[in-house]
Formats: sequence, structure tokens, C-alpha cells
Amino acid sequence: MKNLFLSKQKCFQSVHSDTHNNYICGTMPLTPYTLQYISNLLSANAQINNPQLPVETLAIDSRKILSPEITLFFALKGQRNGHNFIPELINKGVKSFVISEDKWSEAYPGINFLLVPDTLKALQLVAANHRKQFNYPVIGVTGSNGKTIVKEWLFQLLSIDHHIVRSPKSYNSQIGVPLSVWQMNDMADLAIFEAGISMPNEMLNLVNVIQPTIGVFTNIGSAHNEGFESIEQKLTEKFKLFGDVNTFIYPKDELTGFANEIPGKQQISWSTTDTSATVFVKEIERKSLHTKITGVIKAHEHTIEIPFIDEASVKNAITCWCVLIALEIPQNQVKQRMKELAPIEMRLKLRKGVNNCTVINDSYNSDLGSLQIALDFLQQQQQHPKRTLILSDIFQSGISSKELYAKVAQLLASAKVDRLIGIGPEIASQEQLFNLEKEFYVNTDAFLAEFSGAKFNNENILLKGSRLFEFEQISKLLEQKVHETVFEINLNGLIQNLNYYKSMLQPETKLMAMVKAFSYGSGSFEIANVLQFHKVDYLAVAYVDEGVELRKAGIKLPIMVMSPDVFAFESLLRSNLEPELYNFRILNEFVSFLHTHHSQEYKIHLKIDTGMHRLGFQEEDIDKLVSILKANPHIKVASVFSHLAASEDAEEDGFTQKQLDLFLRVADKLKQLLGYSFIRHICNSAGIVRHPEAHLDMVRLGLGLYGIDSAVKNNRLLQPIGTLKTTITQIKELAPGETVSYNRRGKINVPSKIATVKLGYADGLSRKLGNGVGEMLVNGKRAPIIGSVCMDMTMLNVTEIDCKETDEVIVFNEELRVEELAEKIGTIPYEVLTGISQRVKRVYVYE
Ligand SMILES: *Cc1c(COP(=O)(O)O)cnc(C)c1O
Repeated sequence: MKNLFLSKQKCFQSVHSDTHNNYICGTMPLTPYTLQYISNLLSANAQINNPQLPVETLAIDSRKILSPEITLFFALKGQRNGHNFIPELINKGVKSFVISEDKWSEAYPGINFLLVPDTLKALQLVAANHRKQFNYPVIGVTGSNGKTIVKEWLFQLLSIDHHIVRSPKSYNSQIGVPLSVWQMNDMADLAIFEAGISMPNEMLNLVNVIQPTIGVFTNIGSAHNEGFESIEQKLTEKFKLFGDVNTFIYPKDELTGFANEIPGKQQISWSTTDTSATVFVKEIERKSLHTKITGVIKAHEHTIEIPFIDEASVKNAITCWCVLIALEIPQNQVKQRMKELAPIEMRLKLRKGVNNCTVINDSYNSDLGSLQIALDFLQQQQQHPKRTLILSDIFQSGISSKELYAKVAQLLASAKVDRLIGIGPEIASQEQLFNLEKEFYVNTDAFLAEFSGAKFNNENILLKGSRLFEFEQISKLLEQKVHETVFEINLNGLIQNLNYYKSMLQPETKLMAMVKAFSYGSGSFEIANVLQFHKVDYLAVAYVDEGVELRKAGIKLPIMVMSPDVFAFESLLRSNLEPELYNFRILNEFVSFLHTHHSQEYKIHLKIDTGMHRLGFQEEDIDKLVSILKANPHIKVASVFSHLAASEDAEEDGFTQKQLDLFLRVADKLKQLLGYSFIRHICNSAGIVRHPEAHLDMVRLGLGLYGIDSAVKNNRLLQPIGTLKTTITQIKELAPGETVSYNRRGKINVPSKIATVKLGYADGLSRKLGNGVGEMLVNGKRAPIIGSVCMDMTMLNVTEIDCKETDEVIVFNEELRVEELAEKIGTIPYEVLTGISQRVKRVYVYE
């Protein structure tokens, strides 16, 4: 079946919906499919050896294969072309592939290949067909915000009456939706799926897969940030999901101009102004810890109470209320269940723990899908050799307890978990299925009664529990106390940014990730572990001790050290770090050091100065350089590189070209004289974007990885990954004439409300931001800094803002960006990020 398809269809992937490379696979519908059935369904051009082979699992990520024999792998053409991983997958035992490029069928005659024009479409088609096998209600949730919360809350609110299948986490993209729908099974009687879109024309694909019977529309949001020209265009697109629904649920106030286009046979709306809405929200009463919402439904007043006070939660709860009405849940039941709504934390958090442990906390939900994601993350973090999982009972409808925990045992084995602490009657009753160091407790209290911190040392601990088990009691004991000021790093964003730059490179171009200066302030091994998992080729640090720390944390990638101090050569050698050598002094020192300490081949990197005039050999040094290297043949030049002085600046492109020309000349000459080749590299982040001709053999990605690059004009393509946040410690009302902070610099002219926050210049907040220059976000609104920034505290004017003590305050995030903050004080984001002091705890989140 060679060359039957030469179609170059591009697999459509939006960079900003849920990160596609984060998927685990969809597991196990009860309906048995055979390979032949699926091949026929796809009208594939097939090479099939085992037509009756059952297909239970659909996979798209080569790193996350659990049951290879029953897996059908879809080779998607995203930023990583899935086709390139086929030989590796065959080695792992995968037998069946859906492909759109036929490269391997001849080499592997015993393997099954289904050739189709577009593998993503094929994945969607298989899921759509699966969806058709079931006729219980399917709720489709879309909208700009709140989709995941509404889906998870509906799950909480309806689990009593229903066996529910739902999207794991926020799987709502072109790939996430089919994988979610694949989980539908005969034992469930209700399904809830999210649909997200970021580009016009995406929704139709999702409708066919979800085929919702009940449509839930949360809200519109602003159109600009989502790739749409206008609200109208976006709405038209979102409404496509609801073309055939029986029931449509929506916020009437947001759709007033669109009354004629509202889809659905039955409509359930809510409004705070229109008494004709199904739920007319008459009053919203915010107390300190809860909100009372009074609605008029069919001329009767009902009041629900939710344990949240923020506006988004109130709206999401009302949306859920409408769904409960659609499903005819009695109002007294609704009332009771709403009171118990629990917060949704979809993200894993990684923090430093007791006794040098690392704690990964994911204790808000528990099902096989999210367990798989959490284990996957546990496996990436290799800083400690030992892995412990503390796991509660899992609630997953559709399979028996024995089958379920057999699956869990299989997951633990493949994720190389060393120790299991099982909490809950169900998991305890299946004890015999687990083949590793293990302990079981009937409930969380029983575990706490016997808790001893000394049992946890130098290991990675994953806490994975369902909400009911209240694992926060355990995390309190295991995690190091953190101040309320934290720098939160979004690891999914980091991966997205990495993939964005990778998508600009030729497949053979290597990538070196710059993790110097504590990864630009973002952390060390936590970041490096993620980069290693996502297969960058090289890491670079500034100093030897930074490299040593990475090695201690299990980082195996080659690491270049840019400023290797002579006194640190010994640790450099011991940790197998590769020095950058930039002049004769350091070269000679290294040569003589090696002479006495090492006789085998050792890799070095040569820095060439082409115009930055910081470090590096000059063109005229080449002959002497080569003679030294030739006299010491065990020194092996792994790479030769230079640094661009103005890669981001269009006005200096002439200079950049000169740097490149000079570099290429020097590199050629070195290659000729040395008689072997090496990696050549010159581009930093902005250079990757602006100078594709200069990518050469490798690029060095720095700030762009952290979501900031002035050369990337479209904000949506990169995701700022850092959020610096703190809390309000005190609020006071001040009268005109009073002043705030040192030297009475903050004058009060009108009655004002002033909030003190727990962050000052010792944390890295520049004093230049004082006295009205800087702002912070308090409950989504900008509050100017009043008076001078103090060492550990800063005051904000919050006169116009609804807030209270202990509320969260954002110093910068993706909305109030670090670029803006840097510009206000005349510096660059690099300086702000690397200036955040080490006493500010880093917390890593991963979805
Ligand atoms: C820091 C650094 C980079 C990365 O620069 P960005 O602008 O952050 O991408 C590349 N090369 C060298 C030599 C560096 O020191």
C-alpha cells in the first residue's frame, strides 16, 4: 500500500485549548470493537493481520501507552508528528495504527496499519460512531468561561441520581472531546462533555462527536482573545453545538440581541432583569462565606445557598440550577445539594515537602483518567528515586471494584510507583491486587491516627484522593509551610511555549533550553524534569552548582555550563557537565586540569565573539585555538556557538546578518582545521522567531519558554507561565489628611480604603513601583500602589474595589503582564523575573 495517499492535510490544532500532548488515552468502552470494524468504519486502506483484534484503547501520545495489545494508536500530525514514533511504539508492543503517511507498513509486515487521509478526523469519526451506541442524555457544555466548573459541579450535584461519564479535567478540544466520548459505556446513564473552541469552524467537528441532547451555554466572554472577529461570529459558532438539542440552557441577559437564534425545542433561561426567564434571579445576597440566591420559578420563590461568594461561582451555580430543573430534580433536593458544592481544583500542585520530599497534590477528584494524568506527572519529576502514592477509593462508574483496582494496579506498575498507601474500604478490600510496598487504611482518620512524618524521606509523594476523603488534612502535614506570597508556575504553559518554538524548527534542528538563573526565576529541577520529559536536546546553566543540582535531581540530559569557574572544575567533571570555553585563559586551565584528572574524551563548547563583545574567541584566535585542541585530542568540541546582540530588533538586522556571516566563516574554518563536525548554534528566543535562516544545527530557547518574547506579536501564541501572588493582611479606612507608608509619601485626599499586602522589596518588588507607579490586581480590578514599597509589605488603594482581608492579590499574571510591570520601571522582564527572591516559594501547577 505504498504511496496511495500523498495528501498533505494539516492536522488542526489550536495552541491554546487544552494542551494536546497532555492526553492520556481514552480507555475501555464496554462495547467490543474489532480492528476490522474500525477499518470499515474509516474506509481505510488497510494492512490488517489480525482482523478480530479487540480495540479498547485509543491513544495519541507515544509516551503514555498502558495496554499496548488493545491500543489503537492515531498518528496525529501536530507539533510532534505521531508518525515518527511508530517504530518506538511497535517496540512497546502496539500492534495497530491509524496513519495518514505510509512510511512503515513495508518494514513491519506483521503490524496493522489503517491508512486514512486525516487521522484527527478519523479519531473523531470513531468517537462519533461510539457515541451513537448510547441513548441516554448527553449534556454538552460550552461558553467562554466556567465550562469545567459547571461540568464538575453537575457531576457533584447529579452523582446521587446518575452514573455519569464526563470529560476528564478540561478535555474540551478537537482531540480531548473524542477521547472523552470514547469513555461512554453501558453502565452509565448520563454523560457530560465540555466543548471548547478557539477558531471559527471548529464546533461542527465537536457536535458530531458529542451529539448533545441538552445544551448548556455558560457565557460569552470577550471575543478578541479567542480568534473571532466579533461576538456574533463567536456565538454563531458556539450555537452550532446546539443545533439539535432538546433542551437549551442559557443566560438570557447575555443573549438579548439574539432572541431569534436561540436553539433548542425547550429553553431554560436565567436572568437578573427579565421576569419571563425560567429562573428570574430576584436577589443575590452575599454573606462573608456564602451567597443566598433567590429565584422565581413558575411564580414560586426558591432560595438556594452556595458556599462561595465570588461572582463567577454565583453565575455557574445558577447555570447548574437550570440544568437540575431540566432534569426535574425537586427543589428541596436542589437546595440541599447546592449547600454542599465544593471547590474545583483541576490542577496538580507541586510543592516542597517535609524531610526533603516533593509533594504533588491532586486531592480534589479521583477517577482513572485523572489518576493516569497525575501518575504521568509523578513520573516526570525524577528528583527523588522513590515514588509514593497516597490514593483514596476511586469513584468510577461502569466497572466492578475488582476490575477497577486491577486497572489501578496496572497503572501503578507502569508508572513505577514504589509504595502505595491506600485509603478507603474499597481499595483496602482489593489489597491482594497490588504488588508493591503497601499499607491500607479504612479512612483518612485511621491514616492520620498513625501518621508519622518520619515515614516520608527524600521521595516524591503523590496525593490523589476524592474530595470526600479530605486529603487536605494529609497535605497539611506533608507540605512545607508556605508563606501566602507564592510564585506559581504553570507547567502546561511551559510545554505549550516549548511546542510553539519547536513548531518553527526543522525536524533535525536541536533545541537547547536555557535554565540559567534558577530557570529565569521559575525553579530548577522541577522545570528541567518537564523539559527532559518533553525531549529537549540540551540544557544550559550559568554556573557549575546549578548543573550539579540538576544532576542530583536525576536530570540525564547533556548540560552546558556557561561560566565554569576554575575552582569548580572538579564538580563539573564529577557531574559530567560540559563547559563553555571562551578564551585562552579558561581553555588552558581546563586543559591542564584534565591532564591530571581525566584521560578519556571530554566534551566542551566553544564560544565565538561575533559582535556581542561579552565572552568569546575572536576570528584571529582560530589558528592558535586549533593547535591547542589538536595537541589535546581527548578534548572534543561538541558545539561552537555565538550570541546575537540584537536579534529582536529589526533596525539591527544588518548587524545580525554580519554576526551570522562571521560565525559561519569561523565555524567552517574550525571544522576544516579540526577535521570533524560539531553542532553550530546562534539563535536565542527572538532569533528563532525572526531569523529562521540562522537556526543552524541547534537553537537556544530562553525567555520564550517562560512565555515572554517581544518578537512574537500575537499574544495568544505564547502563554506567560508565572503568576506572582500574595494576600491582603489588613484593610483600613483613612480620612483625608492621613498619609500612608514611610516619609508620608502616600497622601490621602478623599476618604479611602487602603489594603496592606504581604510583599515588599525584599521579595523582589522594585521600590520604583511605589507611589502610584505600579498596580496590582485585587479581585480582578487594578489597585494602585500607594506610598513607598516597604521591605516586606506594600499598601494598595482599594477604595473602589470590593475586597476583604485574606483576599488574593496578583502582582503579575497573564492579564497584568510582567512586561508591563518591567516597562513602568524602565527595565526588562528578565530582570523582574530573576529578581523574585528565593524566599518566595515556587508552586508548580499542572493540569
Ligand atoms: C540567556 C541566553 C540565551 C537565551 O536568551 P533569550 O533571549 O532568553 O532567549 C541564549 N544564549 C545565551 C548565550 C544566553 O546567555
